[in-house]
Amino acid sequence: MFGRAPRKSDNSKYYQTLGVSKNATPDELKKAYKKAAIKNHPDKGGDPEKFKELAHAYEVLSDPEKREIYDQYGEDALKEGMGGGGAAHDPFDIFETFFGGGFGGGFGGRFGGASSSRGRRQKRGEDSVQHLRVSLEDLYNGTMKKLSLSRNILCPKCKGKGTKSGVSAECHGCEGSGMKVTVRQFAPGMFQQMRHACPDCRGKGEVINDRDRCKQCHGDKMTAEKKVLDVHVEKGMQHHQKIVFEGQADQAPDTIAGDIIFILDQREHPKFKRKSDDLYVEHTLSLTEALCGFQFPLTHLDGRQLLIKSNPGEVIKPGQYKAINDEGMPQHQRPFMKGRLYIHFNVEFPESGFLSLEQCRSLEKVLPPPKTGRSLADMEIDECEETTLHDVNMEEETRRQRQQQRQQRREAYDEDDDDDDDDDSSMPRVQCAQQ
Ligand SMILES: [Zn+2]
Ligand SMILES: [Zn+2]
Repeated sequence: MFGRAPRKSDNSKYYQTLGVSKNATPDELKKAYKKAAIKNHPDKGGDPEKFKELAHAYEVLSDPEKREIYDQYGEDALKEGMGGGGAAHDPFDIFETFFGGGFGGGFGGRFGGASSSRGRRQKRGEDSVQHLRVSLEDLYNGTMKKLSLSRNILCPKCKGKGTKSGVSAECHGCEGSGMKVTVRQFAPGMFQQMRHACPDCRGKGEVINDRDRCKQCHGDKMTAEKKVLDVHVEKGMQHHQKIVFEGQADQAPDTIAGDIIFILDQREHPKFKRKSDDLYVEHTLSLTEALCGFQFPLTHLDGRQLLIKSNPGEVIKPGQYKAINDEGMPQHQRPFMKGRLYIHFNVEFPESGFLSLEQCRSLEKVLPPPKTGRSLADMEIDECEETTLHDVNMEEETRRQRQQQRQQRREAYDEDDDDDDDDDSSMPRVQCAQQ
């Protein structure tokens, strides 16, 4: 191909580092790396440089492509191909993926099964968040809601491997990455590395033999599952409180399933309002009730009838509050402790709007005397001007006023525009310099 034999750089160092022969099998390489990496792990007092060398040597020799390049051309070929890099990956990453992650303070028991996860780290799946509508009665009394949902789970037949044999279908050609690296020598001692989709698996990272394909999932690894969840809404839970089912969301290969999270959404209650553990209720009294006393039944959130009554001789003013202890919401997880029930009183005046002179006389006998008015001396009245009181609808008035103001503002803006100044006047004008 080339006129000159390519320069050959050292191609035995990695084998020496791992302490294996040049024709070591992948299994022997793995064992050798495992043993040496544990011994030299910096967390266990090992030499970080040695640890790094081990990881790099293993990274190269465990990859059939890279190993071939190394054997044939030596270290330099890889370095050029990799753009002059030393270790391409963090040695701790290599170690962790090798052992399935989580190397903090003890190797105990991790080696056995974890090494089968061949270089893939488990990621965390997404949480599934759903809103759950509840009534205030539900939050007061507590309730159980049965919710059926469908989720993706690993095929139980093949445990998410996609194969009958249970053997991982990970492609050997690319170690499951779906990508392959080839090195082209374009001049003596000059190499170019190219990445392309692995031809063995067409970039999918795995190959399933048709005869070994799982019948249940057809190699998809996943299947849908219908599931009924018992969602326990506990007494005293709050609006927007979360109920979490850990690890119950969709499963996926090499993934820790996320949580199913229900967020409670309390529907507005027609009668009761809740503020933390207290309840508020509005009640309208007639003027007679406000002055002379009242009693009425109030149906609570659990169906009990409370008798609400005034103290003898007590007068209730419009807007006044009264409270009943221990008739508010139960506290979450301490449901025997309850907040207060507040009653906000409105007072309705007589609908007719008129009282006869006779009615007035009898009221005057019991009510406090007027502040002004009839007690004014005729003389003083003579000095006043006569006026007439009209009925007004204040809501209507304010709406009209607001409309007027808006109209005035609009007119003011329009005048601004006439000043031939379409910039916001508060912004300084900046002349753009020519680059
Ligand atoms: Zn492949
Ligand atoms: Zn299956």
